[in-house]
Amino acid sequence: MFNKRVKVKDLLSSAETGHEVTVMGWVRTFRNNQFIALNDGSTNNNLQVVVELGLLNEATLKRITTGASLKVTGQVVPSLGKGQKVEVKATALEILGDSDADKYPLQPKKHSLEFLREIAHLRFRTNTFGSVFRIRHSLAFAVHKFFNDKGFVYLHTPIITSSDAEGAGEMFRVTTLPFEDTPRNEDGTVNFKEDFFGKSANLTVSGQLEGELGAMAFSEIYTFGPTFRAENSNTTRHLAEFWMIEPEMAFYDIEDNMNLAEEFIRYLIQYALDNNREDIEFLDQRLTEEEKQKPQNERSELGLLQKLEFVLNNNFERITYTQAIDILLESPHYKKKKFKYDVKWGIDLQSEHERYLVEKHFKKPVIVTGYPKDIKSFYMRLNEDGKTVAAMDILAPGIGEIVGGSQREERLENLEKRMAEMHIPVEEMSYYLDTRRFGTVPHAGFGLGFERMVQFVTGMTNIRDVIPFARTPKNCEF
Ligand code: ATP
Ligand code: MN
Repeated sequence: MFNKRVKVKDLLSSAETGHEVTVMGWVRTFRNNQFIALNDGSTNNNLQVVVELGLLNEATLKRITTGASLKVTGQVVPSLGKGQKVEVKATALEILGDSDADKYPLQPKKHSLEFLREIAHLRFRTNTFGSVFRIRHSLAFAVHKFFNDKGFVYLHTPIITSSDAEGAGEMFRVTTLPFEDTPRNEDGTVNFKEDFFGKSANLTVSGQLEGELGAMAFSEIYTFGPTFRAENSNTTRHLAEFWMIEPEMAFYDIEDNMNLAEEFIRYLIQYALDNNREDIEFLDQRLTEEEKQKPQNERSELGLLQKLEFVLNNNFERITYTQAIDILLESPHYKKKKFKYDVKWGIDLQSEHERYLVEKHFKKPVIVTGYPKDIKSFYMRLNEDGKTVAAMDILAPGIGEIVGGSQREERLENLEKRMAEMHIPVEEMSYYLDTRRFGTVPHAGFGLGFERMVQFVTGMTNIRDVIPFARTPKNCEF
């Protein structure tokens, strides 16, 4: 059998010595023709493999280069080197794959994140991305554990949809129609009857509407899948393809919804702290180094670990949209005309406003509720005042909006009225209205952007660095 190997992480976490093991991995460094730092991706800590003089011939030694892959058998012995309890004294070493040192792009030195983005197929082999993607994995696992333990049903909502209820401009079209000699109607518009689905179709921007259908039978469901937005926003927090978690719950009002979202975020942070401590500590130090490059007034007050612990130990601030506007209007920042966008009741909060509230005013995550109905979606529940809806956005330090949610409008007449006002095609959405026709109940839900959550836990400032292969405007490599 080939793969009877021990993982580096398991080997390093045990103090047992004297036995023989086989390890496999990639060479990070090779010093003095004697000490190999071997990494297999299970941890950032390399295993020190000692090659004693005479074990290998000159030609083989030359092939132990950074990036080469090895199979090593040897004895586990106590280590004299600092930072590790054990090392492996090789008795046999096989080179599985050579790596030309002159061509291998990853040298044992610091590379910029921008450069590593260009070689995203190799960046997993760096400490930073090793940590980031192990944490991403843990968080994904924790998402399922959280909802499973609560009895939610994981619902797979479709990736291809024909609904264009969510804001048409931002969707990627899915079609098999030819670009040339495209079938057309008499009035010149494209004849989608000839298309694969017999109608126009897109990649989903959200699984919410279908999620609601599930919640109306299972009570509590969640989705966790890719979503697509053709928005041309080149920011550090927007991707064209990102993953979203969307729980949808019957018998929940807006307050239940906020409580669940807050509990969920805390749970994810706690899970990562319990299971990825080493990786978070590594990223904490990385961030501290990165912050040193910035001018004093732009540095964050808390380190990564401190920030995560702070969020665990403090309730999120809860305010209404109207209160948020008042705080902004009374802020020194506003009075000194430092906001680029105007502030008045009715505006959509811009990212500079959200950041001010979270980072300068409250210095903790903030949940904003009661947004003006005109800047929010048709399905959000109208409040008694007739002007605002039961929406909630959670804003996080360094990230901005991390969750968007609402109590849904369960009253058929209200919903139909809103849809008419907002020019939503009511006939096409008849299936959705059925949930309000047959046993409607108060219900609510939210969407958590998975990458923004990973950004929060890893402290990575650019969203392109927390997804394996980022899709952004003019960029679809790998
Ligand atoms: P934003 O104002 O930041 O563009 P949004 O209001 O469009 O967000 P929603 O439609 O409410 O966001 O989506 C729910 C969540 O999905 C957001 O709170 C955010 O965490 C995440 N999200 C939205 N758009 C993107 C994107 N382009 N890339 C990554 N995550 C996103
Ligand atoms: Mn958006």
